[in-house]
Amino acid sequence: MMMRQDLISLLRTLWQELDDNAVQLPSGRTVPVLGEPLIGFAATDDPLFERYKDPEVIGPDWLSPKEWLPEAKTVVGIFYPYADELREEVRGEGPVVSASADTGFPQAGKCARKITAALMEALSNAGITVLDPGRDPRFKVTNTPVRSGEDESLHFCSAWSQRHALYACGLGTFGIHRHLITEKGCAGTMGSFLIDAAYEPTPRTYTGVYDNCIMCGACVSRCPAHAITLEHCRNLLRCLQHGDEIEKLGGSECGRCMFGVPCESRNPSA
Ligand code: SF4
Ligand code: SF4
Repeated sequence: MMMRQDLISLLRTLWQELDDNAVQLPSGRTVPVLGEPLIGFAATDDPLFERYKDPEVIGPDWLSPKEWLPEAKTVVGIFYPYADELREEVRGEGPVVSASADTGFPQAGKCARKITAALMEALSNAGITVLDPGRDPRFKVTNTPVRSGEDESLHFCSAWSQRHALYACGLGTFGIHRHLITEKGCAGTMGSFLIDAAYEPTPRTYTGVYDNCIMCGACVSRCPAHAITLEHCRNLLRCLQHGDEIEKLGGSECGRCMFGVPCESRNPSA
């Protein structure tokens, strides 16, 4: 049987032993891409999960852990922070196309997926049933037009949400930029999956959806598309439209609201 602490230790080992935790940026500098990950756990019968079906939160298409896997007992969430050196490079780049982000984020995502898959495989080899909703054929995302203050926006309803899974796993709260602010900040990537073993849940040290956001407005100023306001958070339609503009210019990643802000690599409310 693989115990909770065994999984935590294995995560650390897999991260330490990554053989491709590095990328050469267009500047010529080679930097690591992932810092040490954080892991958290939530019980699948946590009442919080039912609230995610509320159209004001995610919506009715969101599937609860037991709808994905009836025998599931625990949700496992992992936050993979971008490495200091990668963040430093991205932070210093211009407001639209970032060559460092376009090169570094995909490599970070690849390393994170590799670690998540290795954890799932180890659990499975130990006789534990594992399911990653994000890679299940039932996974889908729909979006509907909504009003946000005076503006048009979009509401995304996803059958599974990494950010909401990690919120339940005690890893952090949302910021007005809609990224999850963990104890290692918001600049990073995530993984989550379900298991049929009962691991002790991680205590949530917050009660409010935005507890870790200090409402400083720094992400509002950082956004080149003026997509974020203190009153209405991130306007997803504007954010998507800006993504299209970046693609036309040959880039692929924005995420400027995660860099050069107090919540980039720490919890500013701590
Ligand atoms: S930059 Fe400030 S306002 Fe924006 S999400 Fe982070 S803490 Fe909140
Ligand atoms: S990802 Fe870019 S466009 Fe979207 S809110 Fe953040 S800074 Fe603005």
